[in-house]
Amino acid sequence: MNAPLVKLEGLKKYFPVRSDKLFSEKEWIKAVDGVYLEIQPGEVIGLVGESGCGKSTLVNLLLRLEEATEGKIWFDETDLTHLSQEALRKTRRDIQMVFQDPFWSLNPRLLVRDIVGEPLTVYLKLSQTQLVEKVQSLLEMVGLPRESLYHYPHEFSSGQRQRIAIARALALEPRLVVLDEPTSAIDILSQAQILDLLMQIKRNLGLTYILISHDLSVVHYLSDRIVVMYLGKVVEEGEADTIFNSPRHPYTQALLNAIPDITKYSLDDLQTLEGSVPSAINPPSGCRFHTRCPMAMEVCRREEPVMLKLGNSHRAACHLLQSNNPKAKRGIP
Ligand code: SF4
Repeated sequence: MNAPLVKLEGLKKYFPVRSDKLFSEKEWIKAVDGVYLEIQPGEVIGLVGESGCGKSTLVNLLLRLEEATEGKIWFDETDLTHLSQEALRKTRRDIQMVFQDPFWSLNPRLLVRDIVGEPLTVYLKLSQTQLVEKVQSLLEMVGLPRESLYHYPHEFSSGQRQRIAIARALALEPRLVVLDEPTSAIDILSQAQILDLLMQIKRNLGLTYILISHDLSVVHYLSDRIVVMYLGKVVEEGEADTIFNSPRHPYTQALLNAIPDITKYSLDDLQTLEGSVPSAINPPSGCRFHTRCPMAMEVCRREEPVMLKLGNSHRAACHLLQSNNPKAKRGIP
């Protein structure tokens, strides 16, 4: 294994809750609460969990759009949590994002040349000729004609607009790209093409992806490894096939059992998991999933389960695994 490109160590993000009551104890929304994670160069990590599980906050912390409450974020062995604004500006080139809805993420008043070329203008001193050449080659890379340069976003289909957004994200030759629901806002016909394009670009450029998606068929198709989050914590992670074929954590099992055919269903179709995700202000004691877990035991209400190593890169945090699998080695706390 190489040195990880990304390493999260005990990462926490607590947001203060506004209260009108005088002298009341300060309350916190524990959006991310002690996440440990390593991402190898060239990997595609799928982040999975219901809304409110903390995956978007986790990505915002990585992009330094939010400041961490505690813990460290290492990117290529640099601690992002303590980077000065100037050093951060340089590192930001390496981490880019493709947003869910290309209609809203692209400025409708700008030509494609200016949308894709904007990061180049901000970071590099290119002549107009160099800028146009660079933008044209980016457009070609994402399968758009070079002449697209002088058109506006509304002149393209949703799939083509997502290609423009991808070209913009690639402009500064990043090493890590966060894909936030990259196909959910585009027409069905274009979805498979965009996924293929993302895979092809990843192979050609040796990129690392973090994928957020409610669509498990997309997650399964793109990801090497899956990370399952529940209420601010990672509850299971492992290779995509392992997670999909033999999930060990009751929450992961519930997610997948609720979806009879992953080629057709998304996490939004979840039906068999009872209740909604509890509030992150006062998360349940012990195992946070115990209020919804069909296999909860007395110990689950009292003690938080530690992360257990189940295989090479397979880990899960559940008391059941501890008692059923005495050989499981203790992993990261
Ligand atoms: Fe369910 Fe207990 Fe395992 Fe939590 S620790 S997932 S409540 S069995």
